Amino acid sequence: MATFKAPKGTYDLIPPVSVKYLAVREAISAPLRNSGYGYIETPGFEDVGLFARGVGESTDIVSKEMYAFETKGGDQLALRPEGTASVLRAALEASLHKQGNLPVKLWYSGSYYRYERPQKGRYRHFSQVGAEAIGAEDPALDAELIILADQAYRSLGLRNFRILLNSLGDKECRPVYREALQSFLRGLDLDEETVRRAEINPLRVLDDKRPDVQKQLVGAPVLRDYLCDACKAYHEEVRALITAAGVAFEDDEKLVRGLDYYTRTTFEFVHDGLGSQSAVGGGGRYDGLSEMIGGPALPSVGWALGVDRTVLALEAEGIELDIPASTSVFAVALGEEARRVLFGKVTELRKAGVAADFSFGGKGLKGAMKDANRSGARFAVVAGERDLAEGVVQLKDMESGDQTAVPVGELIDTVRGRLA
Ligand code: ATP
Ligand code: MG
Repeated sequence: MATFKAPKGTYDLIPPVSVKYLAVREAISAPLRNSGYGYIETPGFEDVGLFARGVGESTDIVSKEMYAFETKGGDQLALRPEGTASVLRAALEASLHKQGNLPVKLWYSGSYYRYERPQKGRYRHFSQVGAEAIGAEDPALDAELIILADQAYRSLGLRNFRILLNSLGDKECRPVYREALQSFLRGLDLDEETVRRAEINPLRVLDDKRPDVQKQLVGAPVLRDYLCDACKAYHEEVRALITAAGVAFEDDEKLVRGLDYYTRTTFEFVHDGLGSQSAVGGGGRYDGLSEMIGGPALPSVGWALGVDRTVLALEAEGIELDIPASTSVFAVALGEEARRVLFGKVTELRKAGVAADFSFGGKGLKGAMKDANRSGARFAVVAGERDLAEGVVQLKDMESGDQTAVPVGELIDTVRGRLA
């Protein structure tokens, strides 16, 4: 018989660890839900052109990481490598921006796909929670998003992360800088692929992690010296607002993002316990993207936080999330009659909002009590024929070991009372 494994670069989320992923998604989205962001869900695949926008552009994602394919109907599609372009596409398609309430603030959570070289913290299928604020140029919006991400990480107990901040300039000053950087890069001794990258997306070369490249980049022109007055003022305001909120950050003039549509505010959250895959999240302003995909000018800002790397960061800091046991009551029935009665009681408990589980598979007392232990339940309800003949079930407190007989008709109220 053939045996199958999860495809290369992917992994399964399995209990008990999988509950951490749910908790991380919940913790990252909670501040957004509390701040006027509405939930959006878009398809797992899109027209490939949404991500590969015309010639002259190159990001790692577009040039080599995308899962692109042709459908039987001849459509060119790609599994989504990121959320921003899809969310903006959906907002434009639904004309959310025409409803007079800009910015449109949205959050999302889902799976993303990149054909990368798999390693710890870098997978071909991974998960992000993201936020986008579409259609307003307001430094307070950039600040809001950074503050909310900081709040999300802190709510998980994370401490060893840093916020790196930069401004990438706008369509006035960025091209001037780009030229200057390009002529600097042309004077370096770089491999063929990097030379090509320098011609298409020179800012991305600054992000090269190889020491021999970094050594040559010393003395490269820095964008800060090229920012126009409007970009400078904008950036100062973002910095002031974040500072006033008590959120610490580091200015990082070399910070660029893997996606090339970013303008002005750019930031990354890095965690110091993760080795080379240290970015747990990132984002920034993308004022030109809407026009690139055929929409009106809609200056926007957003971020995406990586769920997988956030879970690794929790492990690196030794943080155990306080996740309550999913089962409160575990029912152990001995004999056919008891099975019928207790199965009914489990259903009643569940309807009453008590998390309850049942010993399936006709196990004996010993095996069933093992299951009860494993479930983490606070109480076990045990009943055999003799108990039922007396009209009671045994309620066992799994913490203290105390056991009391409770009349069958009072079980639900008794359990609810004792759990409260
Ligand atoms: P990197 O520089 O590590 O490749 P990126 O710039 O490509 O990151 P973004 O596109 O900004 O990353 O995605 C936001 C976040 O999503 C990242 O900070 C990271 O936490 C997560 N992420 C990106 N790619 C992967 C991947 N292949 N596997 C796991 N998480 C990822
Ligand atoms: Mg990447």
